[in-house]
Amino acid sequence: VKHCTNCLMPSTRPRITFDANGVCNACQWSSEKKKVDWSSRNQELINIISNNKTEGEQFDVLVPVSGGKDSCYVSWNLKHNFGLTPLLVHIEPPMPRVDGNKNLDNLVSSGFDCLKMATNSEINRKIAYQELKDFGDPLLSWMISVRSVVFRTAINYKIKLVMWGEDGEVEYGGLTTNKDTGFNSLDYHKKVYLSGNDPAKYLNAYTQAELTNWLLPSEEEYSQAGIKSMHYNYFDSWDPYKNFEVAKKYCGFEESESRNSGTYTNFAQTDSYMFDLHCFLMYLKFGFGRCTADACIDIRRGALDREQAISLVKMFDDISNDLDLTMYAEYFECNIDELKANIYKHTNLELFDIDSNNKLTRKFDIR
Ligand SMILES: [Zn+2]
Repeated sequence: VKHCTNCLMPSTRPRITFDANGVCNACQWSSEKKKVDWSSRNQELINIISNNKTEGEQFDVLVPVSGGKDSCYVSWNLKHNFGLTPLLVHIEPPMPRVDGNKNLDNLVSSGFDCLKMATNSEINRKIAYQELKDFGDPLLSWMISVRSVVFRTAINYKIKLVMWGEDGEVEYGGLTTNKDTGFNSLDYHKKVYLSGNDPAKYLNAYTQAELTNWLLPSEEEYSQAGIKSMHYNYFDSWDPYKNFEVAKKYCGFEESESRNSGTYTNFAQTDSYMFDLHCFLMYLKFGFGRCTADACIDIRRGALDREQAISLVKMFDDISNDLDLTMYAEYFECNIDELKANIYKHTNLELFDIDSNNKLTRKFDIR
């Protein structure tokens, strides 16, 4: 494993690349951002909006929202700076946290319509557990249903514009193909965000009707509907802390009272306990956790130096001792030993030694 010489992102992160000086592509983008002509990109969005004008008879844009700071920021800007009437769509995450729900309510009360979808929790639980076993990601079921519900809602409501928050690949390290475009295709969502996982494989266990909220619309339905799916970070320089401030000021967003599990921050990804397990699996598979992800953002925005970040990462990244697995075993309706086996089998043995009690010893140093 090598770590970026500017932030701490490791070479094990999927799709990340480094330049000759060992700087990762997220850090390269972070300095390129300062030279981007943001006013012309802002104008691009204005043009897209005016080419897709709805004359006020229906919603102008669909915004997928978690209720977090980023969805507040995007919704607020589209309504107040671009004069649009957005429809917010929320897909309830598994194991929701109370403070996440409160933030969503506050966002909606700040002047929006929001369609809330609760998917069949039994199917969600079973798919999530299967994806944990097979793929090491218990959040994948939800990520699939988010895309399905969002695109289907856009089709049903005849809303042409869909605005996601940031493209994590461009902002945090990964594929840079979408650096120079605000648009993303259905195929990009399938291949990159869902890592090629096709929910059609569940058709042997459930009917097409039961899987409606997981199966994605076909390419044909999607293109016939004329959907333009975009990422907001292409049009506006993305800064999670700026988003947090706007969310707090205008959308009633409140940070958690305590820091999030596995990191030192309290204002990002506060809506679901499943996110904690998702991050732990990321740690087992790729050797970096939620603290590294947060610290890298803070290094890039100049709020942390690399040495401080290294001590934070060493303190918080490994949450194996704090993670309450009984809570997850109850959710998945399985016994704890079976759950542990299904989690720890994803440990990357090139990165960690693991003993019979699942005690992890990191084989690499963070320097
Ligand atoms: Zn970096």
